[in-house]
Amino acid sequence: MKGHTPRRRFGQNFLVDRGIIRSIIEVIAPQPQQIMVEIGPGLGAITEPLLERLDHLHVIEIDRDIVARLQAQYQPGRLTIHAGDVLDFDFAALPAPFRLVGNLPYNISTELLFRLVPHAHRLIDAHFMLQREVVDRMVAAPSTSDYGRLSVMLQYRFAMTKLIDVPPDAFRPAPKVNSAVVRLRPRAPHDLTVVDEALLGRVVTAGFTKRRKTLRNALEGVIDASGLEALKINPQLRPENLGVADYVAIANRVAQA
Ligand code: SAM
Repeated sequence: MKGHTPRRRFGQNFLVDRGIIRSIIEVIAPQPQQIMVEIGPGLGAITEPLLERLDHLHVIEIDRDIVARLQAQYQPGRLTIHAGDVLDFDFAALPAPFRLVGNLPYNISTELLFRLVPHAHRLIDAHFMLQREVVDRMVAAPSTSDYGRLSVMLQYRFAMTKLIDVPPDAFRPAPKVNSAVVRLRPRAPHDLTVVDEALLGRVVTAGFTKRRKTLRNALEGVIDASGLEALKINPQLRPENLGVADYVAIANRVAQA
């Protein structure tokens, strides 16, 4: 690993399959002047081919040894290194619109995805390598077992497409799980408008905390049966049966109450 011992605590499974790397770069199709940010560049599997096509790249990296390698390898004019935890990174400070890319450390991936939701309007798109099971949850349709809080909160803001299936042997060390590359593109702002995004998050959390109960019970204290009926939502349904637009409608009604 070019003299670097992979650190499990940082989810370091480095991409080594050249064919997969080429496919990732092809689907991203970087254009020289675009503002692009890579989360977790590691040993540069994606960083290097990105920099062959871009004038400049931002990277966010937590591992100090890797930061030191990147500092030695690249000129600051080509690579801006943000050393630290991406969960503390201020995406609002980046010039917009920007593109995001990352073979993400799997232990923080869902938390990171939730944190990106409020920044959707500043993004062109994002391409992430994730556990395939997480990608399945992101793109899941209502009334399926994969459908949950992650599906609703991301589908509210993004159109998402699973692009590439990636087997464990594409990485060193090989992870125990299958992976997939997913594209997120922000939905048009007028598409689904919620008055209070934090409230939407609370309604969705309340629903999926009790996903086997009826809506009447799961959303007790949030909205009553008559409120649901006024929205033409049957209170006997279960939280997993509602589409994103239904959750937006509930959050907007609660906001007006
Ligand atoms: N991009 C490289 C590749 O494809 O081979 C490395 C991918 S590896 C799965 C994840 C990378 O994210 C590692 O470089 C790791 O050090 C970095 N990382 C892990 N946790 C992080 C965090 N909280 N913030 C920023 N970077 C992190």
